[in-house]
Formats: sequence, C-alpha cells, structure tokens
Amino acid sequence: MSPEDLALFPFLNASSRYVEELDFSLTSLLTERAFHDARRRGFSRVAEAMDGEISKPASFGSDREILNELLSYPYARILVSCVGESALIRKYALSEAKAAYEVLRKMADKNPEFLLEAGEDFDITANDDGVRIHIYFSDYIRYSLSLKDISWKLVNRRLENGFVTIHRDEFARLLQEAIRKKIEHSLPIPNIPDEIQEQCASYVADLKQQYELKRKDMGETDFGEVDFNIFPPCINKAITDVKSGVNLAHSMRFALVSFLLNIGMKADDVVQLFNISPDFSEEKTRYQVEHIAGNEYKTPACATMITYGNCVGKDKTCEKINHPLGYYQRKVFFKRKDEEALAGLSRTEADQTEAGQSVSDENSKPDNV
Ligand code: SF4
Repeated sequence: MSPEDLALFPFLNASSRYVEELDFSLTSLLTERAFHDARRRGFSRVAEAMDGEISKPASFGSDREILNELLSYPYARILVSCVGESALIRKYALSEAKAAYEVLRKMADKNPEFLLEAGEDFDITANDDGVRIHIYFSDYIRYSLSLKDISWKLVNRRLENGFVTIHRDEFARLLQEAIRKKIEHSLPIPNIPDEIQEQCASYVADLKQQYELKRKDMGETDFGEVDFNIFPPCINKAITDVKSGVNLAHSMRFALVSFLLNIGMKADDVVQLFNISPDFSEEKTRYQVEHIAGNEYKTPACATMITYGNCVGKDKTCEKINHPLGYYQRKVFFKRKDEEALAGLSRTEADQTEAGQSVSDENSKPDNV
C-alpha cells in the first residue's frame, strides 16, 4: 500500500506499522508547532463525526499532508477517549467506517486487489474472480450479521465450497462493518495520563460543548454514568433473570440490550452482563449486541412491553411515563436535583460554619487587640 492509501485508511495495521517506523514521539504530536495541522485535523475528524460524516481528502499535495492525515487519526482517538462518551465513540467509529466505505466503493472496480488487501487486515479470506468476490462464509457471517437488509441473510446468497459470492461494492460494505467494529472496540484508550489530557484540554472542552449542543438539538438525553439503582422494574427483573441463568424471551432480551445501549453502556459491557449463564456464548451474544448497537435500535415503549408480557408490574414512577427510557430519564432528573440540593445544603453549612467561625474568631479576640 502507498503512503497515500495508508493515510486514507489510518486504522489498518499496516498504517500503524508505517507510523511506528516514522519514529515520532507522542509528545511531539501533542505539543510541537509542526504538528498543529495534524492536531487540527484530528479535532475535525471528531467534530465532523458528530454530524455523521467525516470528509476525506480527494488527493494529497505533499508528503506533509499525507503525514498530517495519518497522525490526525491517533490524535482523534485521544480526543474521543478524553471526551469519554460511549455514544460519541459509537458515532465516531461509524463515521470513520462510512467515510472509508465511500473511498473503498469508488476504488472497488479500479483496484479490487486493494479491497482484498484491506480485507486481510481483518483476517478476511477472499478472492476475486475478475468480476465478483468470493468470501469465506464465516467471515461473511461475522461482518454481515449486523446489517439490517434481508438480502444479507446467508440463505439469500450463493454459497459454494464454503465461499459466498458477492459484488465488490458489497465487499466494501462488509469492510465498513469490520472498520466500525475495530475502531469501536479499541476505544476509549484506557488510563490516558493527566499530562496528555491537559495538553488536549482546549480541544476536548470544545468537543464536549459541541456534543452537548448537538445532543440538545436532537432531543437526546445525557444520562451520565450508568446507574443500576434507578432502572425500571422490567429491566431490573430481566437483569435478575440473566444473573440467575434464566433464558430471556427474545423480545425481552432485545428490550434489555437496547435499553442498556441507549443509556450509554458500552457494547462490551453489555456482552459481559450476559457472561453468567453456563451456556454463555460470547461470540453469539456479541453478534446480537452489536447488531442492535450498529442499527441504533430504540427500546420498545411500555405498550409494546405489555403486549409481549415483558412489563412485570408498574411502580409509582411507571404511572407517570410510557417508555422504560422515560422512566430512567425521570429518575436521573430527580437524582440530579437531589444531588444539587445536597451540594447547596453543604455549601450553606460550610458558609455558616465559616461565618460562625469568624463570629467566634471575633468573639475570641482578646480585648486588647
Ligand atoms: S410500565 Fe414500562 S417501565 Fe414500568 S415496568 Fe412496565 S414496561 Fe417497564
């Protein structure tokens, strides 16, 4: 692959190796003036992802531009990790993958070898017969399972000697899924040192503000950190069942997974929640969770939950809402109000103590001072 290709697909292993060989220190990327454009582009990657579309350069004018494009990716990963929002991580991974797909789709007929080479990066076994691509069936299943359209179902495909025949642009679409998963699973970067966080602070603050505004515009709620103590009765019951090894009905399993993803739990953490029962299959559970996450499905409303027998009995809060997410949103709202009231109370107490202190200090002054 040429350096231009690597810059367009910076999440490939070959691109990471190329950057490693260039031998730049992370400190120089974060601090040196020479890398200002790379940092700026890293910031744009994340900002553009919030709108669902990351632009890719049509061409590169110089080696410097290639380098900036390549280095902007690790910088963007640091920024996304510092913002620390699961929903943003999902959006970012999806936008990077979609942008890559647009490039792959355009090069599908001109350069099918590149597609196969990119596929190797994801351990995909495939070959091109000059017109179409034959992909090994388990690789096909791995990346097509999260795709909604019925045409992706294996029964609707030609399967010969273990290989599924697909169009080149369809192969590019599977690569999009592979890229999305790879990026999503590798974020956030854990334990970013304080020093690095400080060096990125102004970009991170800017992104947090933009993210908040976007979320408000779209009527999305910031649920904050996941709080298991304020889940609705139906979700609590489902979790208890999972933990005691009871198999959930398909509709309840869907409701539980979509609920947890919608309040911001990471797909990996949702998968681990099911890692209790003796017949737990990580691969199968991951497929299901990622299918729901990838398609951004919404949790069913209470009316649907009742129809499927998944409403286990309402409590007082249930009487005021018509959606399990509405239940959680209401609880979060009141929890925050309580926290604010408590903070206000302790501030008042602190003020009073201070005032009391100064009064007693006054009173304790010796007369001769
Ligand atoms: S009323 Fe809605 S939120 Fe409450 S238990 Fe039933 S389905 Fe869940």
